[in-house]
Amino acid sequence: MGNAVDRLGDVRRRIAAAEAEAGRPAGVVTLVAVSKTFDADAIRPVIEAGQRVFGENRVQEAQGKWPALKAEFPDVELHLIGPLQSNKAKEAVALFDVIETVDREKIAAELAKEIARQGRTPRLYVQVNTGLEEQKAGIDPREAVAFVERCRSVHGLAIEGLMAIPPADENPGPHFALLEKLAREASVDKLSMGMSGDFETAIAFGATSVRVGSAIFGGR
Ligand SMILES: *Cc1c(COP(=O)(O)O)cnc(C)c1O
Repeated sequence: MGNAVDRLGDVRRRIAAAEAEAGRPAGVVTLVAVSKTFDADAIRPVIEAGQRVFGENRVQEAQGKWPALKAEFPDVELHLIGPLQSNKAKEAVALFDVIETVDREKIAAELAKEIARQGRTPRLYVQVNTGLEEQKAGIDPREAVAFVERCRSVHGLAIEGLMAIPPADENPGPHFALLEKLAREASVDKLSMGMSGDFETAIAFGATSVRVGSAIFGGR
């Protein structure tokens, strides 16, 4: 099945084809390479091949490998795509460039406090639980627009985008369409949606970034 660098090239070509197919400008979609469970030795060749945006789902795991990689490659951009506990807000603000999983009042308040304290301002997305799944993080879609407003007005946070993970066993299209509609209502520009199995569909529905793990790094 080749190596991660070959698969990266393949994913990049598929993204370009999906952009063209959707009539969207070339290069509008950012590839977030999801490196969770893979160590620095597996990640380094992918950085050396030119990939600069990465996603991790656990703060603690990311702390173990990214400070050294970021020192080596200072222009790498790191996204937190997994649930954030409020007792990890300090570490998350210190390490991540984008936090995609703001989904409740308490996290918004903790992030605002740490941003003020550290003088470091990661870009922020609100995660929406479009499928209303019990076990999944993310705010109820019916509360999403009001929550974005409160992040701005109550906590002074600049929310840039929305993120969602559709239910694994459903057609993702309606979930992507819902996220796109909520983003328009909340006046945010970025849409993080689409993974290895459905990123081309997400691009057709307006994704501005796709989070692709196994199609690049292999199975976990
Ligand atoms: C693991 C993960 C991905 C990547 O999933 P693949 O199916 O391996 O591409 C994307 N988004 C989130 C939030 C994840 O946790």
